[in-house]
Amino acid sequence: MRHTPAMESAILAVMSDHQGPVGARAAARYLRERGFDVSESTVSRLLTDLDERALTRSLGKKGRILTEEGVRVAANQQLDSERASYFADALNLRDVHDLVDHLAGRRGIEREAARAAALRARPEELADLRAMVETGGEARWRERLAFHKTIGHASHNKQIQAITTSLFDDRLELLERLLMMIGVKQDALARWDQEHRDIVASISDRDADGAERLMVVHLDGMIRETEQFANSGNAHVIHTLLAEIDLA
Ligand SMILES: [Zn+2]
Repeated sequence: MRHTPAMESAILAVMSDHQGPVGARAAARYLRERGFDVSESTVSRLLTDLDERALTRSLGKKGRILTEEGVRVAANQQLDSERASYFADALNLRDVHDLVDHLAGRRGIEREAARAAALRARPEELADLRAMVETGGEARWRERLAFHKTIGHASHNKQIQAITTSLFDDRLELLERLLMMIGVKQDALARWDQEHRDIVASISDRDADGAERLMVVHLDGMIRETEQFANSGNAHVIHTLLAEIDLA
């Protein structure tokens, strides 16, 4: 049996928490306690592999300890997994309040994305954006999400890109369909389509102020329609659909 990256991360985490050397048998026990179905020989091979990569060092019969590099890698993995769980939690929307918070967070990021895209988008990205907003309507929910993703990407600001690529995870397609349903019920879809076209026009004109302002108007409108839909006795519809969307 071949060891996996998840096993490797678990071993590094265990060794970093543990005072003193860890033996192969103890390491195998730790892994099994964490739900890995693993043989001692697999663990031995994993530990040898870590030795070869200078992440661990053998102290003979006593077992192994992390090298300085191993401590660094284990700490980075811990940060990565905390970051991943923050995003998973942020995307785990439960009620109208969570949904409105999500849209408000997007408003903060996407206004900057639209501004930066107006200054930095490449000609081929402008062409993509124009094609995405050419036709609107209910069947175009994929294009709507792609529109927002593309603007994040076209910001060419890696801080914004890091956040928008996490926010516009593929799992959000289902959320986009929920927003579309709200748009249809609130009779706002045609307006949202027009707002997309206006944002693309501003970005094409390299009008950063205009693009930013129109993106805020667009997200403000989505927040308002969501609140109005919820307040007209439909909060339970949103809650039911959110429960079906397992974003985490
Ligand atoms: Zn939109």
